[in-house]
Amino acid sequence: MSDPSRVVFNALRPAEDADAIAAALVRVVASGWYILGPEVEQFEAEFAAACHATHAVGVGTGTDAITLILRALDIGPGDEVITPPLSAAYSALAVMMTGATPVFADIDPQRLTIDPQAAAAAVTPRTRALLPVHLYGQSADMTPLLALAERHGLALVEDCAQAHLCTSEGRPVGTMGIAGAFSFYPTKNLGALGDGGAVVTRDATLAQRLRRLRNGGQTTRYHHEEAGANSRLDEIQAAVLRARLPYLAGWTTRRRQIAQTYRAGLTGTAVHVPPPYDDGHVYHLFPVLTPQRTAFQAHLLAQGVETLIHYPVPIPRQPALSSLHPRQCAVADRICGEVCSLPLYPSLSDPEVDRVIASVRSF
Ligand SMILES: *Cc1c(COP(=O)(O)O)cnc(C)c1O
Repeated sequence: MSDPSRVVFNALRPAEDADAIAAALVRVVASGWYILGPEVEQFEAEFAAACHATHAVGVGTGTDAITLILRALDIGPGDEVITPPLSAAYSALAVMMTGATPVFADIDPQRLTIDPQAAAAAVTPRTRALLPVHLYGQSADMTPLLALAERHGLALVEDCAQAHLCTSEGRPVGTMGIAGAFSFYPTKNLGALGDGGAVVTRDATLAQRLRRLRNGGQTTRYHHEEAGANSRLDEIQAAVLRARLPYLAGWTTRRRQIAQTYRAGLTGTAVHVPPPYDDGHVYHLFPVLTPQRTAFQAHLLAQGVETLIHYPVPIPRQPALSSLHPRQCAVADRICGEVCSLPLYPSLSDPEVDRVIASVRSF
């Protein structure tokens, strides 16, 4: 399985958290309660506190978190939501799942998050919301985006799937707009042992609507007030996340340390390292840019270093969106052709980090 001669791209098997996870699993199995029970309720309180939000609502996936926020805001067919072309495609697919149309605003070529000026230019009378993505662990440029939302009366929904504990000029992500969507997909900074997601918000009415929407639109048992989804964080995943949450701050510190070592070690190499814009960066990924990406990846792999591409195809170029005839984005087109992620996760050792640096330097 794990080849010691390789620096693998990610390591998901529990390690220092293994005993806490095992205890959590045993506890839930023995409890006889598996959906919408005490573990989810307590995780919601603990995660809201960690995010400096008032409410957290556990849902099935990060994608559902975005979809359900938009639905709770009554956004749907005929409405437009402005979102970046560089992200996991799920950001835009979540918009489409509501029946609304994703409208793409190009990214800033350095920060790689949505360009606030492009977002302003994309506003039409149909625009209802902005959906910036805090990409790779770094917040979008929120101050101008919040001003834009205010100016046009738009909802600002934050895609925080890659940004657990991230801050933007000191403000916690997920608390600046009306709501933030988190994913607990296993590779995220806080990952479950399966799918999971959560919405955080300070708006009690929105939180209440989300609790209804995630549970079939039920108000009381077997009374469906509206056509909701079936999208609940389950008790086992909630218990796993509760076991892991106390480690998250330390893991984030380690991610930042590795990123600093990479930044220092990769200056003067053939690759471009996008500069950091905010100390609140939580380094979900560590992308570098090179026009010779195919050769770069092959060179690193020959040195035993695995890499991945986030993302090879801009969302508006995905076949799944072709019938929408989305606006294409030149900066995202170029970045998707050059971007390449180096391994970065808390259990990556110092010798492994040095090996990654040496393999890049020899390219
Ligand atoms: C992972 C991810 C999602 C989707 O989350 P799931 O839990 O996989 O549904 C959405 N947006 C971004 C930016 C992501 O990285």
